[in-house]
Amino acid sequence: MSIYLDYNASAPIAPEVLECMIDVYKNHTGNADSRTHDYGEDVRGLVEAARGQAANLFGVKKDEVFFTSGATESNNIAILGLKDYGLKSGRRHIVTTAIEHKAVLGAARHLESEGFTLEEVNPGQDGRVSAADILSRVRKDTLLVSVMHVNNETGAIQPVDEIGAALSATDVLFHTDATQSAGKLVPEIRNLHFNLLSFSGHKIHGPQGVGGLILRKKRYRLPPVSPIMFGGTQEHGIRPGTLPAALIAGLGRACEIAGEKYASNQRRNAGIKSRLLDLIASSGVTYELNGSLEHGVPTTLNASFLDISSEALMLATKQYCGISNGSACTSSNYQHSHVLSAMGLSSERIESAVRISWDADIDTDELFAEFANLLDRIRRLSVSN
Ligand code: PMP
Repeated sequence: MSIYLDYNASAPIAPEVLECMIDVYKNHTGNADSRTHDYGEDVRGLVEAARGQAANLFGVKKDEVFFTSGATESNNIAILGLKDYGLKSGRRHIVTTAIEHKAVLGAARHLESEGFTLEEVNPGQDGRVSAADILSRVRKDTLLVSVMHVNNETGAIQPVDEIGAALSATDVLFHTDATQSAGKLVPEIRNLHFNLLSFSGHKIHGPQGVGGLILRKKRYRLPPVSPIMFGGTQEHGIRPGTLPAALIAGLGRACEIAGEKYASNQRRNAGIKSRLLDLIASSGVTYELNGSLEHGVPTTLNASFLDISSEALMLATKQYCGISNGSACTSSNYQHSHVLSAMGLSSERIESAVRISWDADIDTDELFAEFANLLDRIRRLSVSN
C-alpha cells in the first residue's frame, strides 16, 4: 500500500473532471477556431464555457482569461512578454523574491541577461517576504513586481494583498504566481489587486498540460504583454496554437468544483494539518517546522527531522509514501532547496527537510496511519545514525 502525499507537485485529477474530458474526447471533434462548420462552433462553445468557469473562480471577466499549457508558460509570458514594453517605456527594473518558482526566476533572470535590472528579495526565516521590503525597492523605472501568492515548498502565504493594494495606485505592473493558492484561497484572490496572475490545472485537480494567465484590464486595456510565440491568433495572439479543448474543459470543471468546495475543503484540511502536527509533536522525533504556521496554507507541511537526511528517508519510504523534499521541477538531481536557503536555514536543516502536501479528498484513516509509520521510520533512522 502506498499513499500519495505530494499534491503540491501534482494533485490527483477529480473524477468529475476526468468524466468531462472523456466526454469531450468522445463526443466533440473539431478545432475551436474553425469557422466553416458547426463542429468548430461546438468546441468553441466548450472552450468559452470553461473560460467563464475560470473567470468565476478568480472573480474576473471572461475576456481577461487566457489559456496556456500551465503555470510555467503563464509565468514566462507574463514576464518575458513585458520585455518590449519595458524597452519602449524605459522601465527596465524588476522586483521579485528569491523564493519564486524557477519559472519566474528563470524568466526574470533571462531579462536581466538582456540588460534589465533585477532585485530578488529574501524572505524572513518564516518563509515570508515583507511587503514593506518589496515596496521599498520600487523605483521610477520599475516595470514589474512579481511575488508568488503561496510558496510551493513551505506553503507560506505571501503578503500579496498589501503589495497589490499599494501598487494599484501606481503604473508598476504586479504579477502573482497563484499556482498554489488557486482554488484554495478563493476570496483572497477575488479581492486581490493584480495585473497578471498565473495558475495551473493540475494543482487544482484538473489535468496536467493546461493552465491560465489572467490579464486584468485597466481603463479597458489589457496589460502591455507581447506574444513570446508566433503562429496563430488564438487567445488574442498571446498564446497561439490550437486550443486543447478537452484539457480546457477539464480545467473549467476543476475551477467550478473548486469554487463550490473551497470553504469546506479549507475546514477539513485545517483539521488534517492540526492532527498531523499533533502526531509529530507526540512522536518523540527531533524536528523543526519550516515556514509560517500562522500564515500557511492548511495543505502543506514542511518539517526538518534533524537527525536524518531527507534523501535517506525518501529512499527508505519510497514504496509506501510519496513525499518530497522540494519542487518536483528541480528534483531530478538533488540540490539544496533555493527556498529554504533563501530563508537562511542551516545546511543541516535544509538537508533534513521533508514536504508533505495533500487536499480534502485524501483518505484520512490511511493518511494518519501512514504518517505514523513515517514518523516511526524517522525514529528508527535517527537511532541508527
Ligand atoms: N509555480 C509554482 C508555484 C508551482 O508550484 C509550479 C508547479 N510546481 C509551477 C509554477 C509550474 O506549474 P506547471 O507545472 O503548470 O508548469
